[in-house]
Amino acid sequence: SLDWMSGDQSPPPSAELRPEVPHPARMYDYYIGGKDNFPADRAAAEQVLALSPLVRISALANRAFLQRAVRTLAEQGVRQFLDIGTGIPSAGNTHEIAQSVAPSSRVAYLDNDPIVLVHGRALLSGARPGSVSVLQADLRDPKAILADPAVRELLDLDRPVALLLFAILHFIDDADDPYAIVRTLVDALPSGSYLALSHATADFVDPNEAGKGPAVYRAATAQLTMRTREQVLRFFDGLELLDPGLVTAPLWRPDQAPQDTDGEVAIWSGVARKP
Ligand code: SAH
Repeated sequence: SLDWMSGDQSPPPSAELRPEVPHPARMYDYYIGGKDNFPADRAAAEQVLALSPLVRISALANRAFLQRAVRTLAEQGVRQFLDIGTGIPSAGNTHEIAQSVAPSSRVAYLDNDPIVLVHGRALLSGARPGSVSVLQADLRDPKAILADPAVRELLDLDRPVALLLFAILHFIDDADDPYAIVRTLVDALPSGSYLALSHATADFVDPNEAGKGPAVYRAATAQLTMRTREQVLRFFDGLELLDPGLVTAPLWRPDQAPQDTDGEVAIWSGVARKP
């Protein structure tokens, strides 16, 4: 946990941010119109966008899905959120959406990228004191997440929790067994908990083009593993998908008029309840 966020100390040294190396969190921030990115991030992001202009549409659609999913979960009565792969704060963060429905909502934000933690104050702003934490953690070590005293102080894991994995599992390599990771987390939560996730896919691109985006990400120090709809569906094994099931992000309970590209937005999205 980061003491500097609760006190008046300065953020960690900027060398940790490695501005010359493109970071996935900052590339994503650039896609969705954020300001917290450096030239190297923008250059890498532009390389990806040159491969497919749908990437920006997909990132924006993912962000909008996150907001509709969190609102839905809060409306279903969920008051605890474990948001792993937080990203750089943007408009409509998880706690803002949840607390607009239910002010007592609590959110633990976890990310392994120091840039996200540097922006932690922005995530805390406007939140009810003690209702939000921003913590450094790696999804590849789910047991450490569940045992983290700061997580346990904020969230009561004996009561329903919404596990949020938006646009993060495609950064988990098959070698790190993302299915086992999700299972470990879901198994630790009680009945009535939820899993909401979104995941990049190459299902809609020409197979000859499919490897190019991941190549840019490898240069940006991240493994990007696209997964098919069937592969993403497996994350929900043993859970009950809410309507309309696993769909592309814009098609999950849309609150705006449909666009022609909705069915090909490259993000599978779903929310499920643990029975
Ligand atoms: N969830 C947000 C941001 C997605 S960007 C949204 O959907 O809008 C993906 C985030 O996952 C980045 O901030 C990146 O730093 C984080 N991330 C990637 N791999 C991670 C890992 N192994 N553990 C924790 N966070 C990770």
